[in-house]
Amino acid sequence: MADFTYALDADGVATITWDVAAKSMNVMSTDGFQLLSDLVDQGLADAACKGIIITSAKKDFAGGMDLNVIAEMRKGGAEAIFDGVMMMHNVLRKIERAGMDPKTKKGGKPIVAALPGTALGIGLELPLSCHRIIAADNPKAKIGLPEIMVGIFPGAGGTTRLARKLGAMMAAPFLLEGKLSDPKAAKAAGLIDEVVPAEELLTRAKEWVLSAKEADLVKPWDEKGFKMPGGAPYHPAGFMTFVGASAMVNGKTQGVFPAAKALLAAVYEGALVPFDTALKIEARHFTSVLLNPSSSSMIRSLFINKEALEKGANRPKVEDQSVKKLGVLGAGMMGAGIAYVAANAGIEVVLIDATQEASDRGKAHAESILDKGMKRGKVTAEKKAETLARISATIDYAALKGVDLIVEAVFEDPKVKAEVTKKAEAAAPGVIYATNTSTLPITALSAASSASENFIGIHFFSPVDKMMLVEIIRGKETGEKAVAKALDFVRQIRKTPIVVNDARFFYANRCIIPYINEGIRMVAEGVEPALVENAARLVGMPLGPLQLVDETSIDLGVKIAKATKAAMGADYPDGAVDDVLFWMADQGRMGRKANAGFYAYSDRGERLGLWDGLATKYPTDKMQLSLSDVQHRLLMAQVLEAVRALEEGVLTDIREGDVGAILGWGFAPWSGGPFSWLDIIGAPRAVEICRGLTAQFGPRFQAPNLLREMAEKGETFYTRFASQKAA
Ligand code: NAD
Repeated sequence: MADFTYALDADGVATITWDVAAKSMNVMSTDGFQLLSDLVDQGLADAACKGIIITSAKKDFAGGMDLNVIAEMRKGGAEAIFDGVMMMHNVLRKIERAGMDPKTKKGGKPIVAALPGTALGIGLELPLSCHRIIAADNPKAKIGLPEIMVGIFPGAGGTTRLARKLGAMMAAPFLLEGKLSDPKAAKAAGLIDEVVPAEELLTRAKEWVLSAKEADLVKPWDEKGFKMPGGAPYHPAGFMTFVGASAMVNGKTQGVFPAAKALLAAVYEGALVPFDTALKIEARHFTSVLLNPSSSSMIRSLFINKEALEKGANRPKVEDQSVKKLGVLGAGMMGAGIAYVAANAGIEVVLIDATQEASDRGKAHAESILDKGMKRGKVTAEKKAETLARISATIDYAALKGVDLIVEAVFEDPKVKAEVTKKAEAAAPGVIYATNTSTLPITALSAASSASENFIGIHFFSPVDKMMLVEIIRGKETGEKAVAKALDFVRQIRKTPIVVNDARFFYANRCIIPYINEGIRMVAEGVEPALVENAARLVGMPLGPLQLVDETSIDLGVKIAKATKAAMGADYPDGAVDDVLFWMADQGRMGRKANAGFYAYSDRGERLGLWDGLATKYPTDKMQLSLSDVQHRLLMAQVLEAVRALEEGVLTDIREGDVGAILGWGFAPWSGGPFSWLDIIGAPRAVEICRGLTAQFGPRFQAPNLLREMAEKGETFYTRFASQKAA
C-alpha cells in the first residue's frame, strides 16, 4: 500500500491521507516524499480541485523522518545530503506557494494540515508549509521538533519557518530544546492555528479550505516588507535576541553540540536574507551537521539503540512477566521513589519499612511528587488519588502475599539485607526478589535467598522519578525468568534498562567513581579546581567531578573508599584521592547537604563557587596542565573502565554501554557514549592518548588489550561488535 492516497470529494476538496503500511506511526521515507509531491501536483493541476487537506488515517499524524533515509543520505556524502534536503525544500515550498502566481500571489489553492494526534519532526515541518494547521483536541498528542535531542536540527524548513513565524526568541524552546506541546499549548505558542474536537477535524478542515481567501494563503515571509517578529539581527531588538540566544546556547551546551551551533547559525544567517536563500543556508548547515559523527552517534545511541533496549533487545525468551503487584522493602529515599514510579504506572504496591511512621513517610514522598505535578498542571486530583490508593504503607510482611516482584531498598548493610530477604521470601514464596544495592555484590547477597535463581539486582538511580536508566544485574545464579521479570517491570515504568553481570560497582558506578577520583586526584596534585571543573563541562559532562561529589556527598565517597580499600587490600590505587576526601570530611565539608563541600554554598543552599579554603591545604601549582590533558584524563578515566567492563564480560552489549553512560551519569551525550567516542577518535588515537597519559600520570591509563588489538586491526567497536548485536 502506498504511504499517501488521494481522494477528491463532490465539493472539490481533495484529501491526501498519510498511512504507512505495517507501522503504527507514520514516518517519512524518500519514496513517501516523492509520492506526496506527485499527489500535491495532481491536486494543483486538477481544475475540479479547489483545495487540499493533508491528514493521516492513523491516530497520530507522524513521528518524523525515517532515520534510515538520513543514514542513506549520509552514505552519499555532502552532495547527496544537500540535494536530498533541497528536494524536500522544493516540495514543501511548492505546497506553500500552492500554484499561486509568484508576482501577484494570486491563483493558489488552499492547503490545510489536519492533525489527529502527535506531529513530530517532519510531521510538523510539513504542516508548517501548509496554509493552516488544525489539530484535534487530543491532550495525549505531542507537537514539536525534537531533532535537537538526537544531535540534528529541523532541516526540512522547520528551522527557517518557525523562526519567521514566531521570531527567534519565541521559537528558541522549540528549536533549541526540542520542547513538545499538546495541541492547546501548541496553539497558545503559535505553532498551530486551531484546535477542534477530534470528531470535527476533517469537517472543519474542509470548511476552511472552502472559505479561504487568497490573502489567507500568502505566508507573512512572502509578503513585501516582511519583518522578523522580535527583530532581525541588525534591528536593536533582534540584536539583543541574537546576542542573548548565542550566550544561552553556549552556556547550556558549552559549544560541544555541533547541532545547536549550526541551528543558531542557520537562524541568524537566514534572518538576513530572503526566505528561499534562507532555506539554502538551512540546508547547508544541516548537511554539515549530518556529516558530523556526533549526529550519527547520538541518533544511534539515543534513538535507535535506546528504543531497541526498551523493546527488549536483550530479553530472554520467556513468557510475559509484567508485574501486577510489587513489594518494596525500605521506604527511604530510594524505596519511596520506586513505590511512586510503580504506582504511577498502575502497579499495586506494598511499601514496607521498620516502623509505620517510616512507611508513611515513604508514601508521603509519593504524595509530594504528585502535588508538584498538580501544581504544574500535569496531574489531576483523580490521578493523584488513584496513584496513592495503589500504595499500601505497612510494617506487616504478611501484606506481601501475592506480590510477584519485590524490590529491596533497605540500608546498605549485608546483615540487614539478609534478614529482610528471609522475612520477605517467607511471606511470598517463589517471588522474584530484587535488591537495589549500589555497592554490594548480588551473588553474595543471594546467599540469603532460598532460591538464588529468583534473585537479581535492579539498580535505580537517584532521584528515581527523574532518572531514566535502570541497571539490571545478573548474579551468578540468576535465572532467565528473573531477568525477564526485571525487564518487563522496567518497561512498565517506562524507563530504559541495561542488563549487566555482577562485578564491583556493576557498570555505571564503576565508570563514574574513577571520574570523580580523577578530579579529586588533580586537586591533590595542585591543578586549579576551576580548571578541572571547566574542562569537564567543556567536554560535555553535565557536572564537573567536584560538583558531582558534592551532590552525592563526601561521606558517601569516604564510605565507598573505605569499603573498596578493605576489599582490594594492597592493590588499592586511590590513596592520593582519599587524602583529599578524608580531609574534606574532617573539615565537616560533606557536600551540598551540609552546605559546604568543594563548593561554597549560601545559607539557602545556592552554589556560590569553588571553596577558596581548599587552597590552604592543596595550593595550586604555578604551571598548570593543558586543557586537553585534563579533559583526556577525565574522559579516559571513565572510558577505559567501560572498555574493561566489556573485556571482563560485565557489559555484554556495547549499545548498553553507550546508552547506559548517557542516561546513567550524563556521559558527554554529543559523543553517543564511551564506545561511540572511541569510534569517533579511532582506536589508534585512543591508544596514543593512553600512552601519553600513562607516561605522565601513571599506569591506570594503560590501554586495555581489547583497545590495543582493535587499534592494530583498524577496528571500531560498532564494526567489531555489530555482528554480535545489530546496532
Ligand atoms: P535510606 O536510608 O534513605 O532508606 C533506607 C530505608 O530502609 C529507611 O527508611 C530504613 O528505615 C529502612 N530500613 C532499614 N532497615 C529495615 C528493615 N530491617 N526493614 C524494613 N526497612 C528497613 O537509603 P536509600 O538511599 O534509600 O538507599 C537504600 C538502598 O538503595 C541502599 O541499598 C542503597 O545502596 C541503594 N541505592 C541508593 C542510591 C542513592 O542515591 N541513595 C542509589 C541507588 C541505590
